[in-house]
Amino acid sequence: MFDYNPPQNLLEKKTIMITGASDGIGRVCANFFADYGATVILVSRTQEKLEQVYDEIEAKHPGKVIIQPLDLRTAGSEDFKILANSIDEQFEALDGLIHNAALLGTRNPIEFYPEQEWQDLMQVNVNAAFMLTKALLPALSRAEDGRLLFTASSVGRQGRAYWGGYGVSKFAVEGLMQTLADELQDTSSVRVNSINPGGTRTGMRKSAYPAEDPITQPEPKSLMPVYLYVMGPDGKGLHGQAINVRGFEASS
Ligand code: NDP
Repeated sequence: MFDYNPPQNLLEKKTIMITGASDGIGRVCANFFADYGATVILVSRTQEKLEQVYDEIEAKHPGKVIIQPLDLRTAGSEDFKILANSIDEQFEALDGLIHNAALLGTRNPIEFYPEQEWQDLMQVNVNAAFMLTKALLPALSRAEDGRLLFTASSVGRQGRAYWGGYGVSKFAVEGLMQTLADELQDTSSVRVNSINPGGTRTGMRKSAYPAEDPITQPEPKSLMPVYLYVMGPDGKGLHGQAINVRGFEASS
């Protein structure tokens, strides 16, 4: 694993939004980013779960956490505009946005893939990320050193049988990342990348591999050196990259 020991104030004065922050990798990102000085804005579907994360961060870092319940399956561009307006009212800029929330769906051959499920996967994993990006790019562009991070998957970099809607949605996420990175290359200081956490001990992993012993998978906290590197000042040189947590090296 990547060896990185940044100073505890790495993300001081940064405001970072994380979607899917109520569980799994997003929840651990929220805690770590706040531990390293950031104010975190947590967006997720289930209010009660978000409130638990709020309580755990607020107890350590009073005033550094904001929660925003939002179902990305049903949210429309108006909801994202309202969210962007409230960011504009409270902060001078948004320093980071991590599109981490995702649906997994079922494993099925394309021929039999349930159509509603396919559409839900595209809505949460791709369309919501597009709309939220669009709404928040002005606030990200006002940051001195903004970061936009999409969450990838191995099955969205090389197609794999039966991963249907999930895999295809993650290919689309890579396409969105690459297109935006190319657009912003010379016109913005916002740096845009995707990150593939690799197999990680979360609820999603358990749904995908129910027969697997969870202990064989690394915990989300083991990913954090790479997430901190990418979101902090040391990650400034990364742009348009399809990052893999496993095997990550600072020069990659
Ligand atoms: P989890 O299932 O543990 O957490 C997913 C998060 O997304 C939860 O906070 C959940 O909210 C939120 N979410 C799901 N649907 C919606 C929705 N409709 N609206 C708002 N929020 C929603 O997933 P992981 O932590 O495992 O995964 C995080 C990211 O990493 C995902 O993008 C995933 O594809 C990717 N990834 C994970 C791997 C792994 O092995 N775990 C491997 C490769 C990629 P709530 O539960 O509160 O409703």
